Amino acid sequence: METLMNNNTTAQQAMDLESKYGAHNYHPLPVVLQRGEGVYLWDVDGKQYFDFLSAYSAVNQGHCHPKIVAALVEQASKLTLTSRAFYNDCLGEYEKFVTAYFGFDKVLPMNTGAEGVETALKLARKWAYEVKGVAENEAKIVVCRNNFHGRTISIVSASNDPDAKKNFGPFTPGIISVEYNNIEALTAALADKTVAAFLIEPIQGEAGVVVPDQGYLKNCFDICKKNNVLFIADEIQSGLGRTGKRLACDHENVRPDILILGKALSGGTYPVSAVLADDHIMLCIQPGQHGSTYGGNPIACKVSIAALSVLRDEQLSENSERLGKLLLAQLKNLQAQFPELVKLVRGKGLFCAMVITQRNGNSAWEVCLELAKNGLLAKPTHGDIIRFAPPLVINEKQLIECVAIIRKTLSVF
Ligand code: PLP
Repeated sequence: METLMNNNTTAQQAMDLESKYGAHNYHPLPVVLQRGEGVYLWDVDGKQYFDFLSAYSAVNQGHCHPKIVAALVEQASKLTLTSRAFYNDCLGEYEKFVTAYFGFDKVLPMNTGAEGVETALKLARKWAYEVKGVAENEAKIVVCRNNFHGRTISIVSASNDPDAKKNFGPFTPGIISVEYNNIEALTAALADKTVAAFLIEPIQGEAGVVVPDQGYLKNCFDICKKNNVLFIADEIQSGLGRTGKRLACDHENVRPDILILGKALSGGTYPVSAVLADDHIMLCIQPGQHGSTYGGNPIACKVSIAALSVLRDEQLSENSERLGKLLLAQLKNLQAQFPELVKLVRGKGLFCAMVITQRNGNSAWEVCLELAKNGLLAKPTHGDIIRFAPPLVINEKQLIECVAIIRKTLSVF
């Protein structure tokens, strides 16, 4: 594959190495990145880009945030891993910090988002058997169509994406899928007394930043309460300031029974995920019943405290809310200017997407290649959608510059 920018052999070599020695489970844009700072990335040729993906919202605090990197480096030279066979002097401090930050009794620390989701599903099943009184092996989890919760066998069992599923069966039973943003469908599904939990992305990220109707989340939560079903919010992508609030659920004052966080919980420096819940749920899991060697390790704890502190101290949710309104308004202007090409724009906070009308030569992929040429990195999803999700440290001047790049790019098609 030829590099976008020029024929610099370093870039080509890097791509060739990945192609030859790495599994082909991704199809990246042909840009080879070497350095990042704040909203900017630089490739191996020194070309500068605005990052409009933020590593799928893991880098909300901006690339290489000095306070987060300092926390990582300092802890890395002291103590990196003890496993949970012993106590360490960071985990308790972190647990107190993160539970106070989000207002839950307890946290269960894991590493990746998928592990966080798996943990939540296991916790919900255990709660169903030990508290709700569901008969053994009968518990069900209700999920939404077009969800994305990760890549493990159980999680892809909950998916309806053929790429995620085909030839990965047999799948985990006990999962029921309902249409997203359809309260009647959820009401019908929850009538089943064996349902343990409803798992939802408050805004569907990988589906293309699909924002449900105002009031939907609150209605879902209320139906869960009525039926003694746990409401699990997967805020791995939508949380931590991305949509203009601390959590996307905060827009409707919904406090989930189980909250799953990942990605920006470390500001993109380290795999850190977390499951938060109150005691009557969390204490269903006892010693030896679940865990992870790296979960809650000292580096993760220090990095996560730093990452959450940066979000709060730099008021990144507020910035996301304010500049998100500007971004959406500007994208709507572009839609009006290029109605043939731009089918739809939507979003909340700095979590926006543009749906491209697909015709010869103007797929979302082609648009992203052109955006990259013009100095802005975004990634297509589902062939026709481009997500616009810059680090939340972006300022107004930079955002306006980015809108100009998007306008220039669209004018080529
Ligand atoms: N849940 C959501 C909503 C996500 O967007 C993702 C990743 O994109 C995941 C879970 C999985 O996270 P990870 O890739 O860290 O396993």
